[in-house]
Amino acid sequence: MSDGDTSTAGGDDFVRELVRNELSNGVVDRVITRFPPEPNGYLHIGHAKAITLDFGLAAEFGGRCNLRFDDTNPDTEDTEFVDAIIDDVRWLGYEPGEPLYASDYFEQLYRWAEHLIEQGLAYVDDQDADTISAQRGGYGKPGVESPFRDRTPEENLALFRAMRNGECAEGSRVLRARIDMQHENMQLRDPVMYRIRNEPHHRTGDTWHIYPTYDWAHGQSDAIEGVTHSLCTLEFDAHRPLYDWFLQHLPLTGDAPNQTEFARLELTHTVTSKRRLAGLVHDGIVDGWDDPRMPTLRGLRRRGYPAAAIRDFCSYIGVSRTNSRHQIELLEWFVRDHLNRDALRRMAVLRPLRLVITDWPDGHVDTVDVVNNPEDPAAGTRAVPFGGDLWIEQDDFRLDPPPKYFRLTPGREVRLRAAYLVTCTDADTDADGNVTTVYCTHDPGSRGGTAPDGRKVKSTMHWVSAAHALEGSAMLYDRLFNADVPGDATGDPMDDLNIASREILTGCRFEPALGDAAPGDVVQFERLGYFAHDPRTALLFHRTVGLRDEWARISARS
Ligand code: ATP
Ligand code: MG
Repeated sequence: MSDGDTSTAGGDDFVRELVRNELSNGVVDRVITRFPPEPNGYLHIGHAKAITLDFGLAAEFGGRCNLRFDDTNPDTEDTEFVDAIIDDVRWLGYEPGEPLYASDYFEQLYRWAEHLIEQGLAYVDDQDADTISAQRGGYGKPGVESPFRDRTPEENLALFRAMRNGECAEGSRVLRARIDMQHENMQLRDPVMYRIRNEPHHRTGDTWHIYPTYDWAHGQSDAIEGVTHSLCTLEFDAHRPLYDWFLQHLPLTGDAPNQTEFARLELTHTVTSKRRLAGLVHDGIVDGWDDPRMPTLRGLRRRGYPAAAIRDFCSYIGVSRTNSRHQIELLEWFVRDHLNRDALRRMAVLRPLRLVITDWPDGHVDTVDVVNNPEDPAAGTRAVPFGGDLWIEQDDFRLDPPPKYFRLTPGREVRLRAAYLVTCTDADTDADGNVTTVYCTHDPGSRGGTAPDGRKVKSTMHWVSAAHALEGSAMLYDRLFNADVPGDATGDPMDDLNIASREILTGCRFEPALGDAAPGDVVQFERLGYFAHDPRTALLFHRTVGLRDEWARISARS
């Protein structure tokens, strides 16, 4: 069963090749990775790529992957996100073990910072952030050294301790590494290591008044944990020399970790920036982080995406150093592929129209056997009640059919799935001309759906017995953003927001077996698509994905 299978060798990408080479050359003797989310939001599909790489690589090479919270910024972080991230990693199919926190290393980081100060490699700067940033210069633009750059180690230590003890106002000072204000790589122009913040931290409370920057915390946390391969996205490429510089100047006891960058995952019609996703939630454009239109793992899960489909997608697209945007239809292909194999088939009528069989014996109920999953004989069949009063889909009847319309229309015979052949005799309409009831006769000899004389019908329609139907709702989803690349034209993704991304249908009719659907179950509504049962509201279904393979059309074109 593919569902528990999270350690299969992902393709032969450059990271795996690197690791294999290092192992065979003795550069490393084990593989320890980490997945380092900042707990300031929920995980999204982009994180899934990092998780499958970090955890997958460790598993393939018999190593370990740490889940480490990069919780160095008290302003935006919260335990709510910590818990959700652990839950999402598990859902995706990985066992994170005991979570680790960068904040647990604050004391060690502090001591290492003092070490750099003592070596003359760090100094306290009393300038404000804007001044420091302006002095950094730019490409071809020289940097300007801070007037505080040549403080003595003693003076720096005293000031740094005062910063730690909460004796300095926010923004009044920072600790900077003393590297090279003319370095061609801006990251090495005396980067900031510590800022003063008096905000309480979600784990350390009021203990700290100074917080390490990403650059000062990340490689050092990797070293503390014995990480061998620190995998991150390409935008950190320019930070790698700084990552290495810090490690080279610290009294490490073990081998220094190495950073390797890979391309971010981007999808068409999708934004993955946490800031943008938070905006969608706060502006009420979606119902929350787990709205089925969100590319968060919670959203995709509620939408009915199997975790295994997301893993297979990540494995298929692989890992490279070239940024690119994948078609969302490819991800949907994997979702459909899994659901086609696993989802039970059910009958649901989303926009009901009444069909009465005029020659049906009064009050008689037949029970027909319907196959649960043609892809999986072991799923068996179920008994579905059938009577003379039924619901069919409004789209399946036309009083005045257009050309090539093969479904029900006066005089036409069709098959009601797994039940009987019926012929339309008449229909009622209301004052506006809307059809209210369709009348049919049936062929009693066609039970099971085959005519005794072998005559053919052009269409088979799903149905639900009115006397047995359950009533509920369905939500149909479209892309949240119309453009392939949201914001491509104007710079603002919100300009491409699809204001009709959700259609809510109430008064849907479901066959009785759907009353047994567990929270989160995904089924195929025959002819309509895959639908996920809401985790909280009974008989509310979210359309996961339609039945038509749009990826085939796209890949044939290219
Ligand atoms: P955002 O920029 O949206 O806030 P982030 O990159 O800051 O996201 P983190 O929580 O810091 O989010 O990310 C944790 C890990 O996930 C990092 O190693 C990061 O490189 C990786 N990651 C985040 N987004 C993507 C993506 N789109 N594709 C691949 N990896 C990603
Ligand atoms: Mg980040």
